[in-house]
Amino acid sequence: MLTRSLKLFARSVFVLALGHLGSSALAHDAPALTDEQLAEHMPASEPAAPQQPSAVLFTNVRIFDGKTPSLSGQRNVLVRKNHIEKISADPIDEPGAAVIDGQGRVLMPGLIDAHWHTMFVGPPVAALLHGDSNYISLIAGREAERALMRGFTTVRDMGGSAFGLKQAIDEHIVKGPRIYPAGAMITVTSGHGDFRNMHDLPRQLGAPGSHGDEEGHSAIADSPDEVRLRTREQLFRGAALIKLTAGGGVSSPHSPLDAITFTPAEIRAAVEAATNWGTYVAVHAYTSQAVEQAIEAGVKVIEHGSLMDEATAQLMAQKDIWLSPQAFPKEMGNAFPPGSHEREKFMEVFEGADRTFKLAKKYKLKTVFGTDVLFSSALAQRQGAILASMTEWYTPPELLVMATSTNAELLKLSGKRNPYPGDLGVVSEGAFADLLLVDGDPLTDIQLVATPERSFVVIMKDGVIYKNTLEGSGSGSGESAGASN
Ligand SMILES: [Zn+2]
Repeated sequence: MLTRSLKLFARSVFVLALGHLGSSALAHDAPALTDEQLAEHMPASEPAAPQQPSAVLFTNVRIFDGKTPSLSGQRNVLVRKNHIEKISADPIDEPGAAVIDGQGRVLMPGLIDAHWHTMFVGPPVAALLHGDSNYISLIAGREAERALMRGFTTVRDMGGSAFGLKQAIDEHIVKGPRIYPAGAMITVTSGHGDFRNMHDLPRQLGAPGSHGDEEGHSAIADSPDEVRLRTREQLFRGAALIKLTAGGGVSSPHSPLDAITFTPAEIRAAVEAATNWGTYVAVHAYTSQAVEQAIEAGVKVIEHGSLMDEATAQLMAQKDIWLSPQAFPKEMGNAFPPGSHEREKFMEVFEGADRTFKLAKKYKLKTVFGTDVLFSSALAQRQGAILASMTEWYTPPELLVMATSTNAELLKLSGKRNPYPGDLGVVSEGAFADLLLVDGDPLTDIQLVATPERSFVVIMKDGVIYKNTLEGSGSGSGESAGASN
């Protein structure tokens, strides 16, 4: 598609150029150009679709399918283009397919992180607030590739201008996971996501936005009309969902954790605009009051919920509301200076996690896995380790089901705005071919997801092989299926 439009563009530019040569050849008389001639004039940076065999056959694998808490018997799995075409205990005859002999290893769905910030995960806070936006984007590109190489083939991006990065990944310009972007975090003045300085006040209604607004990372809105506008701007840019910050947050300097930020009418304005667009609103909320007010206004997913009480958990169960809680590593507090208010707030939230996970289990809340790592490339490397650290509350099979098929079920809430309609988070016929070949059984040894460099011997996303350490090791057979690029 892209190649075709680039060719058309190149053809018209080239034809126009001919028209200016001053020769007798007028533009409309110019001979049609062959693809070879055009290729000489194509920009060198044209993104090439990765070189891939049209079919990949995994033989002799045991499958964790994303739903069943046990492994299958020996299976063969045929991937054609970007989908899983066939799963069989019998040999699959597919001449021409690249064969990956699993030698009894485990084939599982790619991991999904339901609360990720593609744009914020790498740079320190100061760089994000004051740095050059191109620099921030390049860091984000590097982090996206690292996430993919940790086995995370999809992320739900919960705030930040990730649209360009998503496009670049989908067009194979850079490597990274599928991104479900929320776009800018919509917040109130002084709320979580308002990173302005004192001297930025007062804001006049209708005046140009703050730096964060202009970059598209956050959007300040102080009335139902403004919330509606900001929501529709995110939908305009391609948001798969809308994110509001319904209460105070850790990293924002002027938002106390106990604060209720939006009014019910403001949240309803966002819910109405998102629902009209066929998608949903998720809110950042810690306290019971913030959570309950959001649910009342029609919000479908609560991010964090770290300070909520038992009655609120019961309400969430009754209303079938999703919970996206975080098991933050304690070191994450190091992003904030010792003794700072932000550090104090982090510890309050950190300590609330235990109660929240216990409530989620007690009331069987629909719970997803998401890390919410911010401002630290080093901590981001622990994306899989954070999942593995949650055995205090869940069994390894429960965690793996959560980080694959349950997270994928949440992604489907994007409805008609789902950028990747189809089945993710499962190994089943017809699903997208987002697959990991694991050296060991993660259902019994969850630590394998914490060491992706060693454990994940093959990483495939959308049918493209991004890693294959079996290649050349003598363990493959038939035509080899090497990494694409
Ligand atoms: Zn977040």
